[in-house]
Amino acid sequence: MAKEDRGDATPFLPERLSLTALREAAAGCRGCHLWRPATQTVFGEGRKSSRLMLVGEQPGDREDLLGKPFVGPASRELDRGLEAAGIDRREAYLTNVVKHFSFQERGRRRIHQTPKRFEVEACRPWLDAELDVVEPEALVLLGATAAKAVLGSSFKVTQHRGELLDSDLAPIVSATVHPSSILRQPDEESRVREREAFARDLRAIVEALGSL
Ligand code: SF4
Repeated sequence: MAKEDRGDATPFLPERLSLTALREAAAGCRGCHLWRPATQTVFGEGRKSSRLMLVGEQPGDREDLLGKPFVGPASRELDRGLEAAGIDRREAYLTNVVKHFSFQERGRRRIHQTPKRFEVEACRPWLDAELDVVEPEALVLLGATAAKAVLGSSFKVTQHRGELLDSDLAPIVSATVHPSSILRQPDEESRVREREAFARDLRAIVEALGSL
């Protein structure tokens, strides 16, 4: 059976776990079908010593083209939130639960598709390996896809955003909205309100990190 038919990323993991080895190996991952139409694998970015890991859903159009996570329009909202919470983005490790862009072509546009459960599950070995290497003190899941992937399908971000959750994955685990949800707000008033709520959730992490 060809590697790409086995259904997840496990056969593509390197023997030695380091961020460099993982990034190089992930570039050739064929663990699910998403690599075919995408430009490239978009692996996590940040230092091994990062105390904070932020996990989003999947790369978007610009991330796919540039090969870097959180560089599209939503990243500006992420940066605003991090700054408001007093977090230096360079000190955090940023990644996604799915490492290839999932989209549908409409004319010349590539429209984001929420990754399906089997795609999230196929890609999970990369996130587990990143967690093993970085061992963050705080893990923050951004949006429903990331939160459900890590905390279970019944987890509801809307009910539990900003809470400190009980999990073995890191001393501090929390979930909040994906910053792209701020962009989808219908008017400026709602955007301002959502920005404040997002920054408040991130501040709770900073406070919890301060007490470790
Ligand atoms: S989405 Fe994940 S599992 Fe699928 S090919 Fe890309 S890196 Fe591999």
